[in-house]
Amino acid sequence: STNNSSNFIKHIVTEDLKSGRNDEVVTRFPPEPNGYLHIGHAKSIVLNFELADEYKGKTNLRFDDTNPLKEDQEFVDSIKEDVTWLGYDWDGLFYASNYFDEMYERAVLLIKKGLAYVDDLTAEQIREYRGTLTEPGKESPNRNRSVEENLDLFERMKNGEFGNGEKVLRAKIDMESPNLNMRDPVLYRISHTTHHNTGDKWCIYPMYDFAHPLGDAIEGVTHSICTLEFEDHRPLYNWVVEHCEMEATPKQIEFARLNLTNTIMSKRNLKQLVDENVVDGWDDPRMPTISGLRRRGFTPESIRNFCREIGVARSYSTVDVQMLEHFVREDLKLKAPRTMGIIKPLKVVITNYPEGQVEMLDAEINPENPEMGTRQIPFSREIYIEQEDFMEDPPKKYFRLFPGNEVRLKHAYFIKCEEMIKDENGNVVELRCTYDPETKSGTGFTGRKVKGTLHWVEATNAVPAEFRLYNPLILDEDKEEGKTFLDHVNPNSLEILKGFVEPNMTEAKANDKFQFFRHGYFNVDPKHTTADQLVFNLIVSLKSSFKL
Ligand code: ATP
Ligand code: MG
Ligand code: MG
Repeated sequence: STNNSSNFIKHIVTEDLKSGRNDEVVTRFPPEPNGYLHIGHAKSIVLNFELADEYKGKTNLRFDDTNPLKEDQEFVDSIKEDVTWLGYDWDGLFYASNYFDEMYERAVLLIKKGLAYVDDLTAEQIREYRGTLTEPGKESPNRNRSVEENLDLFERMKNGEFGNGEKVLRAKIDMESPNLNMRDPVLYRISHTTHHNTGDKWCIYPMYDFAHPLGDAIEGVTHSICTLEFEDHRPLYNWVVEHCEMEATPKQIEFARLNLTNTIMSKRNLKQLVDENVVDGWDDPRMPTISGLRRRGFTPESIRNFCREIGVARSYSTVDVQMLEHFVREDLKLKAPRTMGIIKPLKVVITNYPEGQVEMLDAEINPENPEMGTRQIPFSREIYIEQEDFMEDPPKKYFRLFPGNEVRLKHAYFIKCEEMIKDENGNVVELRCTYDPETKSGTGFTGRKVKGTLHWVEATNAVPAEFRLYNPLILDEDKEEGKTFLDHVNPNSLEILKGFVEPNMTEAKANDKFQFFRHGYFNVDPKHTTADQLVFNLIVSLKSSFKL
């Protein structure tokens, strides 16, 4: 494969196997179930699963559910669905919350070793005492509590004797460390909140920096891959594994997170768009969520290939969203049947075609993949063409229809524009054309040439359909004072148009994908399509200036 997605990480793993540090590779994908997965998560999924796969190792799916306020079963379910849809099978399915008992025991062990203490300072005081990069921290007055007192207070925290925020458990490391994360970080906090998995069993919850290394070690994860923001947390990660006396010693490796142009890539912000009804749910086709991309029509293959191509690095960069679009075009090129659809219809009457006659024409399903065969499409005296394929007063080099001009109808005949019908406002509402029977497609007619080829749909059998065209959801990402990304929401990110498709499209099912000739790739929307209303989402247009 063209997998260059794990170069520097692969190098580390290879060395670890060679040196005998590890004799297998175990990775994990550790989402917090506080939202739906987005394309950035896909990068991490592809990286973790494919890295382990290359070494015949294992990958766990672990829900990092240590913050009960924000977590929900809906998110757990959607994450499982999305990982599966992307094409990956996890080995173990775990919840950090399954390890709460063991984590509690390890915290008690730290207290007994004099390496953790219960603190009464408020969150704000703890922040103040921590100091800054240029200023050393200050020790808490509670730092030298006895082991007995700490054991007693920690147990009482667990038993619910204190309110939220009244006490925390902190690691006792070094208030003068140049690394702020090492200045007695909080390990446990009190939160009287029902947890989606453990219910009301716990009212103290471990912090990420304590729970994550323990979860990794418990599962025997060998390489714990995370984003660069956690680089400064690595000494703490190693401290926890060592002093909690874990048998396994997972290695944390950081890589740069994915950023995409014109794309919001934070669950918190995406959740805001959902909660404030800017979009129609997490799976709105404008969302960069996996479920939104799926509903828009992106394929798992296209997302996987995109993630492989972008690779992993240790420096930040922003990837052009057109690269993702490139991969879906590439994937659908050979797979998607071609069809014709009219998005903004203009009626055409072919005056010399016999009234009441309908003939069936042969049309190839995919010229780039002839094995897909042919379909039959009706042709008659009345058809629809695209409004923008006609101009009364065309500029030079306009090769579509205008009074007196002749064009080719794809799979059918040449037609010539003879007359325009206008409404009382002067808008052209219908064209009268003539056709030349000799020019029928497939007969090898060479008598004369025309420059334009139009798509069309026969009018009496045409199936009404809705087309949904999308533009970027956020227009300008520049941060202005006092403005949030919500101030940059594009009011025209969705355009709904009513048109027509070929009659055989009544057989189309949710998530079927087509290339509409001259328009682009479209997906049958699984949410809005009903027995009598087809809805097509524009996945991507046909052309792009993007080059790989
Ligand atoms: P967000 O800030 O969007 O909520 P997160 O990192 O808080 O993201 P998690 O559920 O904790 O979300 O992420 C699960 C995994 O996905 C983590 O290992 C994280 O590093 C990875 N991840 C999240 N966002 C990206 C991204 N943009 N690019 C690459 N990996 C990402
Ligand atoms: Mg996170
Ligand atoms: Mg987050």
